[in-house]
Amino acid sequence: MSFQVVCFDCDSTLSKIEGIDELARRVGLGEELAKLTDAAMNGEVALEEIYGKRLELIKPNRAALDWLGEFYISELVDGVADVFAELHKHNKTIHIISGGLLPAILPLAKLLNVPAENVHAVDVYFAENGDYLDYETKSPLAKNGGKAAIIKSLNSTSLVMIGDGKTDLEAQQAGAKVIGFGGVVDRKLVHEKADFFVVNSNLTAVLPHII
Ligand SMILES: [Mg+2]
Repeated sequence: MSFQVVCFDCDSTLSKIEGIDELARRVGLGEELAKLTDAAMNGEVALEEIYGKRLELIKPNRAALDWLGEFYISELVDGVADVFAELHKHNKTIHIISGGLLPAILPLAKLLNVPAENVHAVDVYFAENGDYLDYETKSPLAKNGGKAAIIKSLNSTSLVMIGDGKTDLEAQQAGAKVIGFGGVVDRKLVHEKADFFVVNSNLTAVLPHII
């Protein structure tokens, strides 16, 4: 199949890390919070139940988000740059749709030539001194169903979502197709429900399903 609009998840899809888990690990809360994230991505608990809880514990400041932005890029999944170059060459419209934190994802998007307005993620608010104040509590992406809402708003009949987690499957509710990416984490639920699934650790394995 060929698609005109190509949407990517970020964590465990474009980058090998789970951003919020890494922020937790950085302040010594790693194990406990990683379990929560994993439970949400496997569909065992609702995302909105854990989203605010994790951030309230971590309180990521501006420096932490800058650090995470660099970490996303240094842990880029193999083949990502090739995939984006190929999609740009074919004039595909690319979006990044993530339940991660916007300030940390924007540098990665910039590197891949994805305009900031095509990056959909959860914003974070800081005090003047850079301390964490709050996150964008109204963002649909901090809740289950958020990715479906964003995809519906893109209003395309030729759209594919590529991702590793349960929330990426929501694209199907919006009438889109899903390519499950198991190159970082191979999740049983996604493996079963996605329209296509790739287990290759190199993201270029998704290209034959898109172009
Ligand atoms: Mg993910």
